[in-house]
Order: sequence, then structure tokens, then C-alpha cells
Amino acid sequence: MSKHGDAGRRTRVLVVEDEESFVDALTIGLQREGFDVTAARDGLDALNAFRPGEFDVVLLDLMLPRLSGLDVLRSLRDVSDVPIIIVSAKGEEVDMVLLLEIGADDYVTKPYRLRELVARIRAVLRRREARDSDDDESVIERGPIRLDVDARRCFVEGEEVKLRKKEFALLHLLLENPGRVLTREVLIDRVWGSDYVGDTKTLDVHIKRLRGLIEHDPKSPVFITTVRGVGYRFETTTSAG
Ligand code: CA
Repeated sequence: MSKHGDAGRRTRVLVVEDEESFVDALTIGLQREGFDVTAARDGLDALNAFRPGEFDVVLLDLMLPRLSGLDVLRSLRDVSDVPIIIVSAKGEEVDMVLLLEIGADDYVTKPYRLRELVARIRAVLRRREARDSDDDESVIERGPIRLDVDARRCFVEGEEVKLRKKEFALLHLLLENPGRVLTREVLIDRVWGSDYVGDTKTLDVHIKRLRGLIEHDPKSPVFITTVRGVGYRFETTTSAG
């Protein structure tokens, strides 16, 4: 984790979670992974604990006493662009589109495996780092894919594949945001803009074609995954198998 300088400084995580047993397990688990963990037990506690620049990432439970996760998210976004990963319980009604619009970076659903959570944390941190250091990568490599943006060429496991213009733009956008849920609205707006005619299936047709090119099994995609009712995400957690 320290290869980008700031050697020795551990990544600082603010865990906002009211379930006692869960906080303890999570704190121990994350510390074992090399993170510094601060826990806040409710929404107000979270706002009191948070200082811009003091945390690298926030794990934010939605159902909290005193102040909801949604309100905490809004308040944090007023003062900071710290990466925020939303944590929700299975079965909870969650308006992910709204959360992403307000500025959440990613989300996980309880119960999740620690390994998955750690991968998501690292993904948002990498993305933030990439964004801060270089906005315009001309060659992007993720998983089996290499995208040469200037030359508009795409390689999958070293083999060139021909992409149409919109497919290229769509893949480019997904690769630029690894681990991030991109809503259908954002994808359509950024790739098609006002060109988007056709019905809402146009996006899905393009995704299907991309999956056919890059996935080993397009029917169970591991790179471009569907976030039901929300959009799509390019996974960065699959390389470890
Ligand atoms: Ca809770």
C-alpha cells in the first residue's frame, strides 16, 4: 500500500456502524489488513468524528440512530470528497441512484465477506489516486483488457478486438471508474448524450456485446457486472480469483 509514497502511513478508515458485534469484528478484521480504524456508533457521532483530511475512506451504514446514513452522506459531501462506501443490510430498501447522485462511491450489502470489503476499499482508493495523479490516461490496463485511448484500439488478452465508437466510449468510461457503480443515467448521458434515441435497451445491447468480447462466460460476467435497478460496474476484485 505504501508504494505511492507516504510510506508507513496506514490507511485511515472511519467505520460508521451501530451494531456492536459487527463493529468489533470489522475493526479487528480491518486492522489485520493494515488499516487504522476509528468507529462511530451513530450518525451524529460520525459527523463529530470526521475531520476533512483525517480519513482516507468512510464506511457508512445507512440505518443509524440519531442521524441517518443518508443525512451523514449529505453532510460529509458538503465538506469533503473523501471516498464513501455505503453499507446496507440485505432486504433494506435502498435508493442507490440517489446515493450515487449525492456522491457515494460504492456500496456493499451485509452480510459481506471482509475480503470483498477490503477489495472495494482498495478500489476506491486506487481510483482516487488515479484521478488525482492523472486524469487522462492514454493507455488503460485492467484485468485482461488494454485500451489504447489515443489510438482507439482495444486488446483483450493481447488480441485486438474491434469496437464500434459507442462501445469504445462505454468501455472507456467503465475502465476509468473501476469498482464504481455507474448508473444507467450517467452511462447514457456520457456515452450518448443527446444522441440517445432508441429505447432503454440500447445500453444493455452494448453491454452485452462488450461482455461477449471480454468475459469468459458472458452469461455470468465477472468484469462488467450488473447492479440491479441501478446500472453497471467494472469489477476490480476478480483478479485474485
Ligand atoms: Ca445499522
